[in-house]
Amino acid sequence: MGLSKLDTLYRQVILEHSAQPHHHGKLSGDATNEIELNNPTCGDVISLQVKIDDGKISEIAFDGSGCSISTASASMMTDAVLGKTVEEAQQLVLDFSKMVQGEIEAPDELGDAGLLSGVAKFPARIKCATLAWKALYQAVDKEEQDD
Ligand code: ZN
Repeated sequence: MGLSKLDTLYRQVILEHSAQPHHHGKLSGDATNEIELNNPTCGDVISLQVKIDDGKISEIAFDGSGCSISTASASMMTDAVLGKTVEEAQQLVLDFSKMVQGEIEAPDELGDAGLLSGVAKFPARIKCATLAWKALYQAVDKEEQDD
């Protein structure tokens, strides 16, 4: 497969996530933690709800408004971290951050989110891609402090 076809495939998956984001909306029950973060350079806003049971992310939902990269990234993030322990989720955030800065190849554990590795070529969009991941990191960090 040529690089341009691969790029087209990536774009298609990113567009699908942004058009119909996974885990979009609000949790039906109480969240363990909620956080709102924004990316002023683009105007992206995310509101994230996380429910943690036995140290694992048992439920997750996000809301807000943002560009297609930030929305797709949030959707991919929720897929990647659901069911993971807080420590595993935080490691994924660190891996994602390194990946979009071009420091590492996409790890398998990131799932569809690995497709955003191409963002490394567009520094202006890195903050769009990392917004949801930063929100998750801060949300679960807060949970640890509360204990
Ligand atoms: Zn954006």
